Amino acid sequence: MHTEVMVDVKGLVKRYGSFTAVKGVEFQVEKGEIFGLLGPNGAGKTTTIEMLVGLRKPDEGTASLAGFDVRKQVNKVKEVIGVQLQSTSLFELLKVEEILHLYASFYPKNVDINELIEDMLLTEKRNDRIKGLSGGQKQRLAIALALIHDPNIVFLDEPTTGLDPQARRTLWDIVIRLKERGKTVILSTHYMDEAHVLCDRIGIMDQGELIALDTPTNLVKKLQSTSTVEFHLANPPKKEWFLEMDGVEEASIKDTFVQLYTDNLQQALTSLIQVSTEHHLKIEDLQTRLATLEDVFIHMTGRSIRES
Ligand code: ATP
Repeated sequence: MHTEVMVDVKGLVKRYGSFTAVKGVEFQVEKGEIFGLLGPNGAGKTTTIEMLVGLRKPDEGTASLAGFDVRKQVNKVKEVIGVQLQSTSLFELLKVEEILHLYASFYPKNVDINELIEDMLLTEKRNDRIKGLSGGQKQRLAIALALIHDPNIVFLDEPTTGLDPQARRTLWDIVIRLKERGKTVILSTHYMDEAHVLCDRIGIMDQGELIALDTPTNLVKKLQSTSTVEFHLANPPKKEWFLEMDGVEEASIKDTFVQLYTDNLQQALTSLIQVSTEHHLKIEDLQTRLATLEDVFIHMTGRSIRES
């Protein structure tokens, strides 16, 4: 199958003083892919995106978008990318349609505004002031503005942060439709479920580094442990008790909450009974479930994505 590399990132480094926020990140994204940068707050996702879209100068490394060098061909790059940043501030007093026309006037070519309004599910709001829109509607308008010049590559920085579940799902549909139209999408998120549902491939970032890169299914598959056993105890336990258990690959403990990762659930449960007898543990709320991307992150970093 013929593939076309739309995003090619090599050895990107960004330093803020003596602190290195991005440490040699490399990845490629093909045409029509949704590529996710997943990681906790401060992992370096925004800094990476800002370097790609020309808002920050990399200290080292190169990147090209649709074949254009982000350092040397800035104007060409601007023509082929659309950007929705976390901090997008809109002119609150303008109406939806007005701001779209205003943005369209900045570009030599643009998409049909009526269609765009429809696609972003803003038809009923087209004559409303931006000020009165909900969080989800504002986010959809920000994406509409990023699409106005019909870019090939679309950057979305945490597009669903702060939205309620229904608004998030609506936004997911919109992102999937972008892909169906052949757009290449790079999005950052700290929601595991979002990355799993939307992304063809995911780069997991932690402390400025890309620590894994694969399809969501392969990331989960690569985790030898396929199941997770979770329970609460009356008192905080010692991690060694669980690591010594037959069938347990890894354990994570947060106070009295224990998560065990296993590829042999039967064996893990049997040895859990032995351990609990030996150490007089009172197990409560025991649950087992299949491994998820969240588990992949814990496995790789030893921390939960939410606590870091
Ligand atoms: P978030 O989800 O919070 O946006 P992120 O993964 O996008 O997180 P970045 O915003 O890229 O992370 O930040 C990476 C690191 O660089 C953080 O430790 C942050 O504090 C630091 N950082 C970001 N911008 C600056 C700056 N202008 N000066 C100094 N440090 C910065």
